[in-house]
Amino acid sequence: MQFQVCPSVSKRPKADLIVVPFFKLKKGADFAANLPDLKGVIHPILKAGDFNGKEGSTMLAYLTGKTEKRLLLLGLGEEKSCTMEALRRSYSAAMKRCQGNEWISVNFVLPKLGKLEIHEVTRAVSEGIALSSYVYDQWKSKEGKKPFHVKKATLVGAKDLKIAKKTLGILTGVNLARDLINGNALDVTPETLASEAKKLARNFPSVKATILNKKQLEKEKMGLLLAVGSGSRIDPALVMLEYKGAPLLKDLTMVVGKGITFDTGGINLKPTNFIEDMRADMGGAAAAIGLIQAAASIKLKANIAVVVPTTENAMDAHSYKPGDVYRSYSGKTVEITNTDAEGRLVLADALSYGQKRFNPDRIIDMATLTGAIVIALGDVRAGLFSNNEKLSKLCEKAGDTTGEKVWRMPLDSEYMALMKSDIADIRNSGKKRAAGSVTAAIFLQEFIKKKTPWIHLDIAGTAFLDSPKDYHLSQASGAGVRLLIELLECLE
Ligand SMILES: [Zn+2]
Repeated sequence: MQFQVCPSVSKRPKADLIVVPFFKLKKGADFAANLPDLKGVIHPILKAGDFNGKEGSTMLAYLTGKTEKRLLLLGLGEEKSCTMEALRRSYSAAMKRCQGNEWISVNFVLPKLGKLEIHEVTRAVSEGIALSSYVYDQWKSKEGKKPFHVKKATLVGAKDLKIAKKTLGILTGVNLARDLINGNALDVTPETLASEAKKLARNFPSVKATILNKKQLEKEKMGLLLAVGSGSRIDPALVMLEYKGAPLLKDLTMVVGKGITFDTGGINLKPTNFIEDMRADMGGAAAAIGLIQAAASIKLKANIAVVVPTTENAMDAHSYKPGDVYRSYSGKTVEITNTDAEGRLVLADALSYGQKRFNPDRIIDMATLTGAIVIALGDVRAGLFSNNEKLSKLCEKAGDTTGEKVWRMPLDSEYMALMKSDIADIRNSGKKRAAGSVTAAIFLQEFIKKKTPWIHLDIAGTAFLDSPKDYHLSQASGAGVRLLIELLECLE
C-alpha cells in the first residue's frame, strides 16, 4: 500500500471511494465536511437520521458523475473525546469496509480538530489505515476469495507525506513481528530467528548480526538458557543485533526479547486451553527483531543492541527437571520449582551476558512472561516494571501516544520473600501463586546491575489476541515495536 497526500479536497485525485469523517452529530446539526460537490448526497442521509457519527460507524452511498464512485460516511464519535487512538480505531473501521472489495484507490478525508495538530491527525489516521492493512492468510484456500485491495490511500487535507512514509517504515517492523509470531512453531524456530537477524544485517548497512550457537553457549556457560533448551530437538541460540543510527553518540539502549518458539511448559506440562497459543511465546523476540527492522527503515537516531535468547521449551527425556539446581551465566544458582517458568531463566542469562558485552545505558526487556499479567490487565495494557522513575514515565507517555498502553506494577522488596530458595540463591517461581507477574519481574531484577535504568514489559496479554481488536486481527499484534520506537525517540 502506498500513501499520497493532497492538501485540499478540491484537488483530490479520482478514486474508487471517498471516506468522509463526521463527529457524533447533534440532531439537526449541519455536517462539518467542506465538500461542496458531495453536499447534495450527504445532506439527505444526515437528514434522514440514519447516520449519527458514532465512533467506528460507517454508511456507504454510491455516486454518479463524481470524483469517486462511492462515498463512505465514517463516525469519529464525540469531538471532545476524539484522541489519536480514536482516530486510529475509526479509520481502521473504514479499512475493514474496504476488505474483500476491489476498491483499489481510496481518498481518506482528514478531520479538523481543535485539540490535535495536523501532524498528529496525519500520523494517527495513517497508522489506523496502515496497521489494519495487514493480512495473514497463507493457510486460507484462495479460491473464490477476493484479496484485500487498497493500494493507494490518499490523505486529503494532509500536507506532509513524510509522516505517512514513516508510518509505513515502522509498519514493516510491526508486520515482521506479526508474521514471526503467527507462523507455525515448526517453521519459526531459533534457527529462523537467527536467519531473520542475518537478513536484517544484509538488508541494512546500519545493522550487524551475531549469533551464538549451542557450542558457544556451552563455552560461555549460559546454564539457564541451555537448561531450558535441553529437551528440544532444535538447538538453542543467542541472537544479537546491533543497530547504529547515531554513530557519533556513545548512548546505547539494550533490548532483550524472550524467544521461546514453543512453550510446552516442560515437565510441568501445560494443560489444554493453556497450550494452544504457545507458538506466540516468542512475542518479545519478534518485537525486538521487528524494532530493528522499523528503526533501520526510518533511520531512527539511536543506537540499539538487541539480545534474543531463543529455544523451545520442549519435553523429552533430556528435559530439565523440577527440583534441580542450575547455575546461571552470572554465577547465581537457581532452583527450578516449575519448568514452565522458563522465560525468566533464558532472559536472566541474556540480560547478564548483554550487560557484560554491551555495557548499555539502559535496558528494556519484552516478554510474554506470565499468565498473571493477563489476569491483571487483559489485552488493554502491558505490565511495566521499572527501577527508574524517569524511564518509566517516558514509557508510559509513549504508551499513551501510540495506543500501546502500559501500566506500572510494583517491585517492592517484600515480594522477594516469595522467591527465596532453601537450597539455591533463588527459585524460579513463587512459593505461592500470589503476585505471579511481580515475582517474575523480581527474579529478572536480580540479574540487572544496580544503577542501570531498566524496564521490563510483560506483553503476555497484548502480543497475542484471541479476537480481532481495533486495527489488529486476532492472533499476533506486533505489540512493542511502535511503543519502543516512540520511547527511543523521546530519549534525550
Ligand atoms: Zn512457560
